[in-house]
Amino acid sequence: MTKKFDSKVAMITGAGSGIGRETAIAFADAGVQVLVTDVNSTAGEETCKMIRDTGGTAEFTFIDVTKSVSVEAAVQRAVELYGGLDFALNIAGLGSPSDPYNEESWDQVMEVNLNGVFLCMKHEIAQMLKQEGGAIVNMASVAGYRGLVVTHPAYVASKHGVVGLTKWAGAKYAAQGLRVNSVSPGAVRTSLMEKSIEADPSREAAYAAKQPIGRLAKPQEIAEAVLWLCSDSATFVTGTNLAVDGGWTAT
Ligand code: NAD
Repeated sequence: MTKKFDSKVAMITGAGSGIGRETAIAFADAGVQVLVTDVNSTAGEETCKMIRDTGGTAEFTFIDVTKSVSVEAAVQRAVELYGGLDFALNIAGLGSPSDPYNEESWDQVMEVNLNGVFLCMKHEIAQMLKQEGGAIVNMASVAGYRGLVVTHPAYVASKHGVVGLTKWAGAKYAAQGLRVNSVSPGAVRTSLMEKSIEADPSREAAYAAKQPIGRLAKPQEIAEAVLWLCSDSATFVTGTNLAVDGGWTAT
């Protein structure tokens, strides 16, 4: 049976865990040839195995999104392996450290969550312009809409920055066949979220209460939105930030 995205190619950062892993699996299930990338090689290889075990196509490449050469090499690897890059999903991210004024934490979070997305877009866009088309989805957050005081200021600033970068690139490259959007999840049950709940168990109920749907999201529910944004059902959608947050930002 022909699948929706047969012969398309996607590179996914942060695909060793959580939302990135489930997105890699969802794209492979839809027939996409997937380049799983992560700074954690063991976790990335595990995602590839999960995909191959169910008949999908996936290869792993190490990436550190904070290093331009590493990102460039990963994009080149996708081209060598599969002949191009149709979709780039920039999902790698760090969670929120506890001390709001720790300067090292500020640098680390900004480096991965914002500079990392910039470096990824730089190299992905260069490849997509050669192909005259492509779709990019960046992972933002409810913290990209709100001054979420329970999180570190760098987390809030980085996610607002991701939304801004997305609008800039969406507008700049629209006429050249590229679409660039972001997704802003609410609270999603992943290892990043488990760590936050471990640090303060009252957070689980607090997060669920913020979302009118009354529970945390499954990472698959975020992956479905990313899949839609890359699909031919979203050909007029660019430069937008899609909240997938159980109604959080509607309140
Ligand atoms: P996660 O911790 O489960 O996965 C993050 C992945 O990013 C890990 O595999 C990690 O190894 C990788 N990574 C970290 N630094 C990297 C680097 N320098 N280079 C390459 N890869 C690196 O987290 P998650 O919950 O799946 O979050 C994924 C994204 O979704 C993040 O951008 C996060 O901010 C965002 N998000 C998560 C939630 C949530 O509730 N979980 C909510 C809103 C937004």
